[in-house]
Amino acid sequence: MGSLVLEDIRKSFGPVEVLKGIDLQVEDGEFVIFVGPSGCGKSTLLRVIAGLEDASSGSVTIADAAVDHLPPSKRGIAMVFQTYALYPHLTVRNNMALGIKQAGQPANEVASRVAAASKMLSLDDYLDRYPAELSGGQRQRVAIGRAVVRDPQLFLFDEPLSNLDAALRVNTRLEIARLHRELGATMIYVTHDQVEAMTLADKIVVLNGGVVEQIGSPMELYNNPANTFVAGFIGSPQ
Ligand code: ADP
Ligand code: MG
Repeated sequence: MGSLVLEDIRKSFGPVEVLKGIDLQVEDGEFVIFVGPSGCGKSTLLRVIAGLEDASSGSVTIADAAVDHLPPSKRGIAMVFQTYALYPHLTVRNNMALGIKQAGQPANEVASRVAAASKMLSLDDYLDRYPAELSGGQRQRVAIGRAVVRDPQLFLFDEPLSNLDAALRVNTRLEIARLHRELGATMIYVTHDQVEAMTLADKIVVLNGGVVEQIGSPMELYNNPANTFVAGFIGSPQ
């Protein structure tokens, strides 16, 4: 068993089936990217893993535990969204600390986790600032820090760079890659950006219309695309 196992995940909204039987196994420490065109079901699949949506059928296993009936807070996950959703009236320190404080972590543990995460994300000079006093890239790093302090079994990212300008996208992408190396954590990352997929992933899951077209390493998909859709999407010669 891996760090994440999905078995025949299906999800319908009313009469429309948007996930049509997704199977996936993610090993401990892997960086896995869900890629595919807009509307293909990437965010829905991530939300099913997080427990923010119930699957219509199928099962989700995280770190060898069946989590289908658990709320997001009990699944050992932390999620980073495209919008940072920081509290404007709280400092960087308190934005990062709030969730784990509310979850009952003792004050000294909260302080040491915030210190470690802010160092890792080069935010240690900004702990007493408010979100309005930060750049977009710094705000997104605070949102990532808020996930890091939870010490999750699984990180879930939904297009975390899409609100950043081009230079910040590259910086923040490198930052996330470094974080993955330093933490050795399992990460699932949604994007529609081929460059992000090819540079960050150990393994890419190509989704299209609610089904998996192909799963493989960036080089496997590039050199040996299963079909013309994958070839076109990944940019391999056809
Ligand atoms: P992606 O993230 O790949 O762009 P989504 O997972 O957001 O795609 O959406 C997949 C499909 O499901 C889309 O057609 C979208 O309109 C539909 N959908 C997503 N969430 C809902 C919802 N809460 N109610 C109805 N339809 C939804
Ligand atoms: Mg989406």
